[in-house]
Amino acid sequence: MDIRNGLVEAIGNTPLIKLKRASEMTGCTILGKAEFLNPGQSVKDRAALYIIKDAVARGALKPGGVVVEGTAGNTGIGLALVGNALGYRSVIVIPETQSQEKKDMLRLAGATLVEVPAVAYANPNNYVKVSGRLAEALARTEPNGAIWANQFDNIANRQAHIETTGPEIWEQTEGEIDGFVAAVGTGGTLAGTGMALKQRNSRIRIALADPFGAALYSYYTTGELKAEGSSITEGIGQGRITANLDDAPIDVAYRIPDAEAVQIVFDLLEHEGLCLGSSSGINVAGAIRLARELGPGHTIVTILCDYGTRYQSKLFNPVFLREKGLPVPGWLERSVDLPS
Ligand code: PMP
Repeated sequence: MDIRNGLVEAIGNTPLIKLKRASEMTGCTILGKAEFLNPGQSVKDRAALYIIKDAVARGALKPGGVVVEGTAGNTGIGLALVGNALGYRSVIVIPETQSQEKKDMLRLAGATLVEVPAVAYANPNNYVKVSGRLAEALARTEPNGAIWANQFDNIANRQAHIETTGPEIWEQTEGEIDGFVAAVGTGGTLAGTGMALKQRNSRIRIALADPFGAALYSYYTTGELKAEGSSITEGIGQGRITANLDDAPIDVAYRIPDAEAVQIVFDLLEHEGLCLGSSSGINVAGAIRLARELGPGHTIVTILCDYGTRYQSKLFNPVFLREKGLPVPGWLERSVDLPS
Protein backbone atom coordinates (compact mmCIF):
# COMPACT_ATOMS: atom_id res chain seq x y z
CA MET A 1 0.00 0.00 0.00
CA ASP A 2 1.12 3.56 -0.71
CA ILE A 3 -0.72 5.76 1.76
CA ARG A 4 0.33 9.14 3.22
CA ASN A 5 -0.80 9.73 6.76
CA GLY A 6 -2.27 13.22 6.38
CA LEU A 7 -1.23 16.35 4.51
CA VAL A 8 2.26 16.57 6.00
CA GLU A 9 3.28 13.24 4.49
CA ALA A 10 2.10 14.48 1.08
CA ILE A 11 4.72 17.27 1.13
CA GLY A 12 7.85 16.67 -0.96
CA ASN A 13 8.92 13.73 -3.14
CA THR A 14 7.91 15.80 -6.17
CA PRO A 15 8.80 14.58 -9.68
CA LEU A 16 11.68 15.88 -11.79
CA ILE A 17 10.29 16.96 -15.16
CA LYS A 18 12.49 17.21 -18.25
CA LEU A 19 11.97 20.60 -19.86
CA LYS A 20 11.86 19.83 -23.56
CA ARG A 21 12.57 23.16 -25.21
CA ALA A 22 15.21 24.33 -22.73
CA SER A 23 16.98 20.96 -23.15
CA GLU A 24 16.79 21.02 -26.95
CA MET A 25 17.96 24.62 -27.10
CA THR A 26 21.11 23.89 -25.05
CA GLY A 27 21.93 20.25 -25.82
CA CYS A 28 21.77 19.64 -22.08
CA THR A 29 19.21 17.82 -19.93
CA ILE A 30 17.37 20.54 -18.06
CA LEU A 31 15.13 19.22 -15.30
CA GLY A 32 12.54 21.08 -13.23
CA LYS A 33 11.66 19.87 -9.73
CA ALA A 34 7.87 20.13 -9.71
CA GLU A 35 7.37 21.90 -6.40
CA PHE A 36 4.04 23.28 -7.60
CA LEU A 37 2.71 19.74 -6.98
CA ASN A 38 3.06 20.13 -3.22
CA PRO A 39 -0.30 20.32 -1.38
CA GLY A 40 0.01 24.11 -0.97
CA GLN A 41 1.17 24.38 -4.60
CA SER A 42 4.63 25.71 -3.78
CA VAL A 43 8.16 24.85 -2.67
CA LYS A 44 7.45 26.65 0.62
CA ASP A 45 5.39 23.77 2.04
CA ARG A 46 8.71 22.10 2.84
CA ALA A 47 10.04 25.05 4.85
CA ALA A 48 6.68 25.57 6.58
CA LEU A 49 6.63 21.95 7.76
CA TYR A 50 10.24 22.05 9.02
CA ILE A 51 9.75 25.37 10.82
CA ILE A 52 6.66 24.04 12.62
CA LYS A 53 8.27 20.67 13.43
CA ASP A 54 11.38 22.44 14.81
CA ALA A 55 9.30 24.79 16.99
CA VAL A 56 7.34 21.82 18.35
CA ALA A 57 10.54 19.85 19.03
CA ARG A 58 12.04 22.85 20.90
CA GLY A 59 8.87 23.09 22.99
CA ALA A 60 8.22 26.61 21.66
CA LEU A 61 4.98 25.75 19.87
CA LYS A 62 2.25 24.28 22.05
CA PRO A 63 -0.97 22.54 20.91
CA GLY A 64 -3.45 25.19 19.76
CA GLY A 65 -0.68 27.80 19.54
CA VAL A 66 -0.39 30.49 16.90
CA VAL A 67 2.23 30.65 14.14
CA VAL A 68 2.95 34.23 13.02
CA GLU A 69 4.85 35.00 9.83
CA GLY A 70 5.68 37.74 7.38
CA THR A 71 5.50 36.28 3.88
CA ALA A 72 5.04 37.06 0.21
CA GLY A 73 2.31 34.43 0.45
CA ASN A 74 3.58 30.95 -0.28
CA THR A 75 5.17 30.32 3.13
CA GLY A 76 1.97 31.58 4.72
CA ILE A 77 -0.13 29.18 2.66
CA GLY A 78 2.16 26.31 3.72
CA LEU A 79 2.05 27.35 7.39
CA ALA A 80 -1.73 27.73 7.35
CA LEU A 81 -2.33 24.32 5.75
CA VAL A 82 0.24 22.46 7.87
CA GLY A 83 -1.13 24.34 10.90
CA ASN A 84 -4.66 23.16 10.14
CA ALA A 85 -3.41 19.58 9.78
CA LEU A 86 -1.45 19.65 13.04
CA GLY A 87 -3.64 21.89 15.22
CA TYR A 88 -2.10 25.38 15.09
CA ARG A 89 -3.59 28.72 14.01
CA SER A 90 -1.78 31.15 11.74
CA VAL A 91 -1.50 34.93 11.53
CA ILE A 92 0.09 36.12 8.30
CA VAL A 93 1.53 39.57 7.55
CA ILE A 94 1.75 40.18 3.79
CA PRO A 95 2.83 43.20 1.69
CA GLU A 96 -0.30 44.53 -0.03
CA THR A 97 1.46 44.35 -3.44
CA GLN A 98 1.31 40.55 -3.49
CA SER A 99 -1.24 38.87 -5.75
CA GLN A 100 -4.91 38.77 -4.76
CA GLU A 101 -4.96 35.04 -5.44
CA LYS A 102 -2.38 34.38 -2.70
CA LYS A 103 -4.31 36.57 -0.24
CA ASP A 104 -7.56 34.78 -1.10
CA MET A 105 -5.91 31.39 -0.60
CA LEU A 106 -4.54 32.45 2.79
CA ARG A 107 -8.00 33.57 3.93
CA LEU A 108 -9.66 30.40 2.75
CA ALA A 109 -7.01 28.34 4.53
CA GLY A 110 -8.12 30.07 7.73
CA ALA A 111 -5.13 32.37 8.26
CA THR A 112 -5.75 35.76 9.84
CA LEU A 113 -4.37 38.19 7.27
CA VAL A 114 -2.66 41.48 8.03
CA GLU A 115 -1.92 43.51 4.90
CA VAL A 116 0.81 46.15 5.20
CA PRO A 117 2.33 48.63 2.72
CA ALA A 118 5.37 47.25 0.85
CA VAL A 119 8.37 49.09 2.31
CA ALA A 120 12.09 48.25 2.43
CA TYR A 121 13.55 45.96 5.08
CA ALA A 122 15.32 48.89 6.76
CA ASN A 123 11.91 50.45 7.50
CA PRO A 124 10.43 49.35 10.89
CA ASN A 125 7.07 48.92 9.14
CA ASN A 126 8.45 46.29 6.73
CA TYR A 127 6.25 43.17 6.77
CA VAL A 128 8.97 40.97 8.25
CA LYS A 129 9.53 43.34 11.18
CA VAL A 130 5.79 43.86 11.76
CA SER A 131 5.36 40.07 11.93
CA GLY A 132 8.15 39.78 14.52
CA ARG A 133 6.56 42.41 16.77
CA LEU A 134 3.11 40.89 16.32
CA ALA A 135 4.44 37.45 17.34
CA GLU A 136 5.91 38.92 20.54
CA ALA A 137 2.63 40.61 21.40
CA LEU A 138 0.54 37.50 20.65
CA ALA A 139 2.92 35.31 22.68
CA ARG A 140 1.76 37.32 25.72
CA THR A 141 -1.97 37.35 24.99
CA GLU A 142 -2.78 34.07 23.20
CA PRO A 143 -3.89 31.35 25.65
CA ASN A 144 -1.71 28.70 23.94
CA GLY A 145 1.12 31.03 23.03
CA ALA A 146 2.52 32.18 19.70
CA ILE A 147 5.77 31.79 17.77
CA TRP A 148 7.42 33.77 14.98
CA ALA A 149 8.27 31.46 12.07
CA ASN A 150 10.98 33.92 10.92
CA GLN A 151 11.65 32.05 7.65
CA PHE A 152 14.46 34.41 6.56
CA ASP A 153 16.72 33.82 9.55
CA ASN A 154 15.37 30.55 10.92
CA ILE A 155 17.61 27.85 9.46
CA ALA A 156 14.98 25.16 10.01
CA ASN A 157 13.94 26.51 6.60
CA ARG A 158 17.08 25.47 4.74
CA GLN A 159 17.25 22.27 6.81
CA ALA A 160 14.12 21.18 4.92
CA HIS A 161 16.11 21.36 1.69
CA ILE A 162 19.27 19.80 3.19
CA GLU A 163 17.19 16.82 4.34
CA THR A 164 14.61 16.52 1.56
CA THR A 165 14.97 18.54 -1.69
CA GLY A 166 18.72 17.95 -2.13
CA PRO A 167 18.70 14.19 -1.38
CA GLU A 168 15.60 13.72 -3.56
CA ILE A 169 17.33 15.39 -6.54
CA TRP A 170 20.47 13.31 -5.97
CA GLU A 171 18.48 10.08 -5.91
CA GLN A 172 16.21 11.02 -8.81
CA THR A 173 19.21 11.77 -11.04
CA GLU A 174 21.24 8.86 -9.59
CA GLY A 175 23.99 11.38 -8.99
CA GLU A 176 24.11 12.33 -12.68
CA ILE A 177 23.83 16.06 -12.04
CA ASP A 178 26.27 18.81 -13.02
CA GLY A 179 24.49 21.95 -11.87
CA PHE A 180 21.69 23.33 -9.72
CA VAL A 181 20.11 26.76 -10.18
CA ALA A 182 17.59 28.68 -8.06
CA ALA A 183 16.40 32.18 -7.27
CA VAL A 184 16.40 33.43 -3.68
CA GLY A 185 13.61 34.65 -1.47
CA THR A 186 14.87 33.53 1.93
CA GLY A 187 17.70 31.50 0.38
CA GLY A 188 16.48 28.28 2.00
CA THR A 189 16.03 26.44 -1.28
CA LEU A 190 19.29 27.50 -2.92
CA ALA A 191 21.51 27.18 0.16
CA GLY A 192 19.96 23.98 1.54
CA THR A 193 19.75 22.11 -1.77
CA GLY A 194 23.18 23.43 -2.77
CA MET A 195 24.73 22.23 0.50
CA ALA A 196 23.18 18.77 0.21
CA LEU A 197 24.38 18.38 -3.40
CA LYS A 198 27.90 19.73 -2.77
CA GLN A 199 28.27 17.34 0.15
CA ARG A 200 27.60 14.44 -2.25
CA ASN A 201 29.72 15.78 -5.12
CA SER A 202 31.69 19.00 -4.65
CA ARG A 203 31.99 19.46 -8.45
CA ILE A 204 28.27 20.20 -8.89
CA ARG A 205 27.96 23.88 -9.88
CA ILE A 206 25.52 25.85 -7.73
CA ALA A 207 24.10 28.95 -9.40
CA LEU A 208 22.00 31.88 -8.23
CA ALA A 209 19.40 33.30 -10.65
CA ASP A 210 18.54 36.77 -9.39
CA PRO A 211 15.82 39.13 -10.65
CA PHE A 212 16.44 42.86 -11.08
CA GLY A 213 15.66 44.79 -7.88
CA ALA A 214 17.58 42.23 -5.78
CA ALA A 215 21.07 42.79 -4.36
CA LEU A 216 22.51 39.28 -4.46
CA TYR A 217 23.77 39.15 -8.04
CA SER A 218 25.92 42.14 -7.18
CA TYR A 219 26.98 40.56 -3.87
CA TYR A 220 28.10 37.25 -5.37
CA THR A 221 29.89 38.90 -8.30
CA THR A 222 31.51 41.96 -6.63
CA GLY A 223 31.09 41.47 -2.88
CA GLU A 224 28.82 44.51 -2.60
CA LEU A 225 25.10 44.33 -1.79
CA LYS A 226 23.62 46.59 -4.42
CA ALA A 227 20.20 46.55 -6.08
CA GLU A 228 19.42 47.87 -9.53
CA GLY A 229 16.08 48.14 -11.35
CA SER A 230 12.90 46.35 -10.37
CA SER A 231 10.90 43.21 -11.10
CA ILE A 232 7.31 41.95 -11.21
CA THR A 233 8.37 38.59 -9.75
CA GLU A 234 6.98 37.61 -6.36
CA GLY A 235 8.53 35.61 -3.54
CA ILE A 236 12.10 36.30 -4.66
CA GLY A 237 14.48 39.28 -4.75
CA GLN A 238 16.59 39.57 -1.61
CA GLY A 239 18.53 42.62 -0.41
CA ARG A 240 20.59 41.10 2.39
CA ILE A 241 22.46 37.95 3.44
CA THR A 242 19.87 36.10 5.51
CA ALA A 243 20.91 33.45 8.03
CA ASN A 244 19.71 30.87 5.51
CA LEU A 245 22.14 32.26 2.91
CA ASP A 246 25.06 32.35 5.29
CA ASP A 247 27.81 30.03 3.93
CA ALA A 248 25.70 29.10 0.89
CA PRO A 249 27.99 27.36 -1.63
CA ILE A 250 27.26 29.62 -4.62
CA ASP A 251 29.68 29.28 -7.56
CA VAL A 252 28.09 31.58 -10.09
CA ALA A 253 25.36 34.23 -10.28
CA TYR A 254 23.13 35.40 -13.15
CA ARG A 255 20.78 38.35 -13.34
CA ILE A 256 17.66 37.70 -15.37
CA PRO A 257 15.44 40.43 -16.88
CA ASP A 258 11.68 40.01 -16.34
CA ALA A 259 10.98 39.95 -20.09
CA GLU A 260 13.18 36.84 -20.47
CA ALA A 261 11.64 35.07 -17.45
CA VAL A 262 8.07 35.89 -18.42
CA GLN A 263 8.57 34.65 -22.00
CA ILE A 264 9.89 31.35 -20.62
CA VAL A 265 6.82 31.01 -18.37
CA PHE A 266 4.52 31.61 -21.36
CA ASP A 267 6.43 29.15 -23.56
CA LEU A 268 6.39 26.45 -20.85
CA LEU A 269 2.60 26.79 -20.59
CA GLU A 270 1.92 27.02 -24.33
CA HIS A 271 4.26 24.24 -25.46
CA GLU A 272 4.73 21.98 -22.44
CA GLY A 273 1.53 22.44 -20.42
CA LEU A 274 3.43 23.63 -17.35
CA CYS A 275 1.54 26.44 -15.59
CA LEU A 276 4.02 28.30 -13.38
CA GLY A 277 4.70 31.56 -11.55
CA SER A 278 7.32 34.08 -12.57
CA SER A 279 10.07 32.90 -10.21
CA SER A 280 10.06 29.58 -12.12
CA GLY A 281 10.79 31.60 -15.27
CA ILE A 282 13.79 33.22 -13.56
CA ASN A 283 14.97 29.74 -12.52
CA VAL A 284 14.66 28.16 -15.97
CA ALA A 285 16.36 31.18 -17.55
CA GLY A 286 19.21 30.64 -15.07
CA ALA A 287 19.34 26.94 -15.92
CA ILE A 288 19.66 27.79 -19.63
CA ARG A 289 22.55 30.16 -18.86
CA LEU A 290 24.35 27.57 -16.76
CA ALA A 291 23.77 24.96 -19.51
CA ARG A 292 25.37 27.29 -22.07
CA GLU A 293 28.30 27.88 -19.72
CA LEU A 294 28.89 24.16 -19.10
CA GLY A 295 28.24 23.12 -22.72
CA PRO A 296 26.15 20.30 -24.26
CA GLY A 297 25.75 16.95 -22.51
CA HIS A 298 25.34 18.23 -18.95
CA THR A 299 22.42 17.79 -16.57
CA ILE A 300 21.06 20.84 -14.80
CA VAL A 301 18.29 20.87 -12.20
CA THR A 302 16.17 23.85 -11.19
CA ILE A 303 12.99 24.49 -9.21
CA LEU A 304 9.47 24.95 -10.59
CA CYS A 305 8.43 26.95 -7.52
CA ASP A 306 4.69 27.45 -7.63
CA TYR A 307 1.54 27.11 -9.71
CA GLY A 308 0.62 29.82 -12.19
CA THR A 309 -3.04 30.28 -11.25
CA ARG A 310 -1.69 32.10 -8.20
CA TYR A 311 -0.81 34.99 -10.55
CA GLN A 312 -3.75 35.03 -12.94
CA SER A 313 -4.54 38.69 -12.17
CA LYS A 314 -0.96 39.79 -12.90
CA LEU A 315 1.41 37.56 -14.86
CA PHE A 316 -1.43 36.23 -17.02
CA ASN A 317 -3.36 39.50 -17.32
CA PRO A 318 -2.81 41.40 -20.63
CA VAL A 319 -3.66 44.76 -18.99
CA PHE A 320 -1.06 44.26 -16.26
CA LEU A 321 1.56 42.99 -18.73
CA ARG A 322 1.10 45.96 -21.07
CA GLU A 323 1.34 48.37 -18.14
CA LYS A 324 4.71 46.82 -17.27
CA GLY A 325 5.93 46.81 -20.89
CA LEU A 326 6.09 42.99 -20.93
CA PRO A 327 5.15 40.60 -23.77
CA VAL A 328 1.51 39.43 -23.89
CA PRO A 329 1.04 35.79 -24.94
CA GLY A 330 -1.21 35.53 -28.00
CA TRP A 331 -3.51 32.85 -26.59
CA LEU A 332 -4.68 35.11 -23.73
CA GLU A 333 -6.51 37.31 -26.21
CA ARG A 334 -7.51 34.70 -28.76
CA SER A 335 -11.20 34.48 -29.64
CA VAL A 336 -13.42 32.96 -32.32
CA ASP A 337 -16.50 34.40 -33.96
CA LEU A 338 -19.59 32.27 -33.47
CA PRO A 339 -21.15 31.20 -36.78
CA SER A 340 -24.32 33.19 -37.44
N1 PMP B 1 9.54 31.36 -5.71
C1 PMP B 1 8.41 31.69 -5.04
C2 PMP B 1 7.15 31.88 -5.82
C3 PMP B 1 8.44 31.86 -3.65
O1 PMP B 1 7.33 32.19 -2.98
C4 PMP B 1 9.67 31.68 -2.96
C5 PMP B 1 9.73 31.84 -1.47
N2 PMP B 1 9.50 33.12 -0.99
C6 PMP B 1 10.82 31.37 -3.70
C7 PMP B 1 10.70 31.21 -5.08
C8 PMP B 1 12.20 31.29 -3.08
O2 PMP B 1 12.37 30.31 -2.13
P1 PMP B 1 13.35 30.51 -0.89
O3 PMP B 1 12.59 31.31 0.14
O4 PMP B 1 13.62 29.13 -0.44
O5 PMP B 1 14.56 31.24 -1.32
